[in-house]
Amino acid sequence: MVILKTTREIALMREAGRISQRALLLAGKAVEPGVSTFEIDRIVREYIEKQGATPSFLGYGGFPASACISVNNVVIHGIPSKKQILKEGDIVSIDVGAKLNGYHGDNAWTFPCGSVFEEAQAIMDVTKESLFEGIKNAVAGNRVGDIGHAVQKYAEARSYSVVRDFVGHGVGAKLHEDPSVPNYGTPGRGVRLLPGMVIAIEPMINQGTHRVRVLDDNWTTVTADGKLSAHFEHTVAITSNGPVILTMPD
Ligand code: MG
Repeated sequence: MVILKTTREIALMREAGRISQRALLLAGKAVEPGVSTFEIDRIVREYIEKQGATPSFLGYGGFPASACISVNNVVIHGIPSKKQILKEGDIVSIDVGAKLNGYHGDNAWTFPCGSVFEEAQAIMDVTKESLFEGIKNAVAGNRVGDIGHAVQKYAEARSYSVVRDFVGHGVGAKLHEDPSVPNYGTPGRGVRLLPGMVIAIEPMINQGTHRVRVLDDNWTTVTADGKLSAHFEHTVAITSNGPVILTMPD
């Protein structure tokens, strides 16, 4: 069931979104060669808690950290670790959520570690651009399939593939609400978008096959062929004035 939010609720969600975004930016600034993913997670948690908010991911389904940190061929749900030290040329996807005033914000970004190869920069650029193609279609009267189609068309036209096994989602008092928001789809199909819907649009784009597998820790999700993957996400409110990104810097 899709839960529509009032204008007041969306304003509260903007506060949660702002903290999520600031935590993500701080995490991105910490990405450099020699830093552990554990340290980045510590920065995220400390910032969110200092704001009087709660890290949405900590303990969610048993997830042991505040941020998912997914390096290179890891698509999503990478578990931060003291043993994982970032290297020059890595691409580092960081996914962060914060709960404040009873509502979540959810966002992700892939950051370069030092200078990266051209192909690594290219997949980050295309994934970010595909997110904004999706957001452009997050318009009342459209359907969920219009968002997915826009993302898929943009990425596939540039010879990348779209992960199928994981999708975007509604956001609200729960981190994951209805509807599911796939990054692929058919125009004019799926749930109709209405003012008051808040959704996380989050393309996960692969360099090679779209297929992924989950490692034995039951979290870490990697590309089936070991090639690169990138992930960008914003929490977006559908309003009568068009899409409003709640996880934007001020
Ligand atoms: Mg999400």
